[in-house]
Amino acid sequence: MKPAAIEAFFATLQAANPHPVTELEYTSVFELLTAVLLSAQATDVGVNKATRKLFPVASTPQKILALGQEGLESYIKTIGLFRSKAKHLMETCRILVERHGGEVPRTREALEALPGVGRKTANVVLNVAFGQPTMAVDTHIFRVSNRTGLAPGKTPLAVEQQLMKRVPPAYAVDSHHWLILLGRYVCMARKPLCHRCAVSAYCDFKPKTLG
Ligand code: SF4
Repeated sequence: MKPAAIEAFFATLQAANPHPVTELEYTSVFELLTAVLLSAQATDVGVNKATRKLFPVASTPQKILALGQEGLESYIKTIGLFRSKAKHLMETCRILVERHGGEVPRTREALEALPGVGRKTANVVLNVAFGQPTMAVDTHIFRVSNRTGLAPGKTPLAVEQQLMKRVPPAYAVDSHHWLILLGRYVCMARKPLCHRCAVSAYCDFKPKTLG
C-alpha cells in the first residue's frame, strides 16, 4: 500500500469512527490490565461477562489478593485457560502491591515483567490507558495488515514494526482500534466483506469478494 493510500485508508476509518474505544469494559487502569490479561485466546464479550461480576467485588490488586486463587477462579471460570490466568493475575497483583504501590506501572519494561503480561498486553495498556502510539498486534491486526498490504510481515513483531513505520503519526494512537474493528466485523478471516468495506479502494487485496 502506497503512503497516499495509507493516509486515505486511515482518514476513512477515522471519519467513520472518530473516537474508537476498546470493547473490553473497565473503569480504571488496573481493571483494563486485568481484562486484557484475561482476554488472551478469549473473546471480549466472554471477558466482559466475567468481569461484570468480578470488578464490583474486587477492582484493586489488594482486593483480588484477598479473594485468593480459588475465589478468583470462581469468577473467571467461564474464560478459557482460567486456572493459569488466575495464577498469573494473583502473582501480578502481589508484584503491583509490593513494588508499585498498588498502581499499574507506565513503562513497557515494568509491564512486561508482570506474570501473564506479554508484549501485546503491554502495548494495549500503554496505548489505551496511557495514550502511547503502540501497536498491539492481535490476530485481526496481523491478518488485516498483511491482506491489505498496509504492513506485511511474517510475525506479529514484524507487523508491529512495519505499522510503527508506516502509520502516519496523526493516526498512530487510534489505529490499532480501527484495525481490530475492521478485522473483527468487515475483513473477517474466512470471507472478507470487500463489497461492504469503506476502505476497499485503498486495499491491495485481490480479488476482492463480491458478496
Ligand atoms: S477490501 Fe476486503 S480485503 Fe481489503 S480491507 Fe476491505 S474487507 Fe479486507
